[in-house]
Amino acid sequence: MSQYQDIKQLAYQANMQLPKLNLVVFTFGNVSQADRDSGVFAVKPSGVPYEELTPEKMVIVDFEGKTVEGVLRPSSDTKTHALLYKQCEGIGGICHTHSMYATSWAQSHRDIPIYGTTHADHNTVDIPCAAPMDDEMINGDYEYETGHQILKCLQERGLSYKELEMILIGNHAPFSWGINAEKAVYNSAVLEAIAQMAFLTEQINPKAVRLKEALIRKHYERKHGPGSYYGQ
Ligand SMILES: [Zn+2]
Repeated sequence: MSQYQDIKQLAYQANMQLPKLNLVVFTFGNVSQADRDSGVFAVKPSGVPYEELTPEKMVIVDFEGKTVEGVLRPSSDTKTHALLYKQCEGIGGICHTHSMYATSWAQSHRDIPIYGTTHADHNTVDIPCAAPMDDEMINGDYEYETGHQILKCLQERGLSYKELEMILIGNHAPFSWGINAEKAVYNSAVLEAIAQMAFLTEQINPKAVRLKEALIRKHYERKHGPGSYYGQ
């Protein structure tokens, strides 16, 4: 049996959540689970339909993006995952989808404004939409550069990957992360819900205003502050 059986199983379970949560169609989307002690992660193979996935088919890749174990090709977004794991020590799981509403905001090059308490329960800021990548990045090592684009956006906005676990890439789609693959998938589902609610809010009232600072603080700290009972 593979020495990486545990992370293969976790990555498999997390990937199988994506179609269940209506976050993907066909083979879109990918989730990975890291093993920090071994310096590797398990990621979905490329182009395999969800109904044909098994834990054994997960591909083991190191933080440079090199396949360590597995016969299938790792997800085409693997280098984005590798870079984020390499640069952000606290990340244990990463998820990428083309979920309908979050992707629509990304395609519109818009941050998702913080309109409600669902958003504030998870983040205190608008969900950033990283700038679309320039031609040089696209024609270069595209997936690796996508990772750089995420990190650059966080840095420019003065945000830590520990405070904000979700982002949009302009022209592309969302990425999310967390302490493990399960949390990364949870964050993708939360992001999709936030994106849908923000869209509907603007449809109902094009002049809708951002949530008041007092409510942002209240909701975020209720869940994440020192007196919280949710635990992170
Ligand atoms: Zn994509």
